Amino acid sequence: MSTAQITIPLDIPDVRVLQTPLTAQGEFIITVESTLPSAVCHRCGQMIRKSYGSDDWVTVPHLPILGRPVYRRYRPKRYRCDSCDGHPTTTQPLMWHTPNSPQTNAYDTHLLLQLVNATIEEVSLKERLPYDIVLGVIERRIAQQVDWTRYTALGRLGLDEIALKKGHRDFVVIVTARLQDGQVVLLGVLPDREKVTVKRFLLSIPTPLRETIETLCTDMYAGYIQVAREALPHVRIVVDRFHVAEQYRAAADTVRKQELKRLKQELPQADYQQLKGSLWAFRKNQADLSPEEQTVLARLFEYSVELAAAYLLREELTAIFEQAPSQAQAQTELRAWQERVRHSGLTCFDAFLNTLDHWWTEITNYLVHRDSSGFVEGLNNKIKVLKRRCYGLFNLGHLFQRIFLDLEGYRLLA
Ligand SMILES: [Zn+2]
Repeated sequence: MSTAQITIPLDIPDVRVLQTPLTAQGEFIITVESTLPSAVCHRCGQMIRKSYGSDDWVTVPHLPILGRPVYRRYRPKRYRCDSCDGHPTTTQPLMWHTPNSPQTNAYDTHLLLQLVNATIEEVSLKERLPYDIVLGVIERRIAQQVDWTRYTALGRLGLDEIALKKGHRDFVVIVTARLQDGQVVLLGVLPDREKVTVKRFLLSIPTPLRETIETLCTDMYAGYIQVAREALPHVRIVVDRFHVAEQYRAAADTVRKQELKRLKQELPQADYQQLKGSLWAFRKNQADLSPEEQTVLARLFEYSVELAAAYLLREELTAIFEQAPSQAQAQTELRAWQERVRHSGLTCFDAFLNTLDHWWTEITNYLVHRDSSGFVEGLNNKIKVLKRRCYGLFNLGHLFQRIFLDLEGYRLLA
């Protein structure tokens, strides 16, 4: 057995190490003593220095060293106040351990980092800790709602909704902000998308902070837009491009389904086989097509003029959102696009033409600063994963804690 030794700095402030025996089980038990000479009286708030002995020994898990479990052992010191009636005593608080916490603060932080994008079950298995201990760290360290004092300016707000259960009609609304430095932060998890709920939340934002909101991104749910106009009259409302694209792409896709169904009946089987792969090719943007996909699409379009037209119109629309240099230019191009749709004889975009007219300002507001909501910033995927992970996580406070940790954990803790 090697007897080579190394010295590791303990990185604990204000303590003297009394002993560090390695137990028969291969665990380090580091016994320490606080070197701070005082406490603050819990009653009068004065600094008190009169020692009043120590509490019982406390042993708490700390970060492992070289794979070996580490415990820290100490006796909390007590001090007595001579100014207060009855001379109450106060236990000295320590930077590295919160009273009644089952482990050191450093270990808590380590567990929180493990919890980013992971489940409580996974972390409890990996760290060999009971589920409740891991849950307890979240409960102690992560708030269940926003702390407005963390922010000085909000910038762009996003309202996104998610259904917590598959096929469920109940939505919760996730409110995020994209700060000036690009960071997406969680502001709220609302129990439903009722106007009164959303309005109450928007008005709960402290006034000075509310005035720093420039844009609000949302989907085309009329309730949100009406509420936003009332609660945030100075704010530019933007219908998220993601939701707009979803609609017109779905419209083009209905033609693909109809036409492939028709071709399957009309074409000889061998010819129809030649269209294999056209589903994915059709869904891709022109620039992303491989040579094979270009070939299969060209073949498909030879059989269906309608489908070629639908694809082309869809791609033109995407190009306007991608490339238009200004809102005014986009509006001109969109009017021309609407005309081309009306002359194409296609009916698949009829509903979308109405949508475009109805939310004309909000949809084209996207072109002012190309604002997107948290969904486009990757929040959507994070929440999808979170839903799989935390199936049945219906407590809004817990949901807030988990999304907060996923979004901001690395930045705050690492
Ligand atoms: Zn006192």
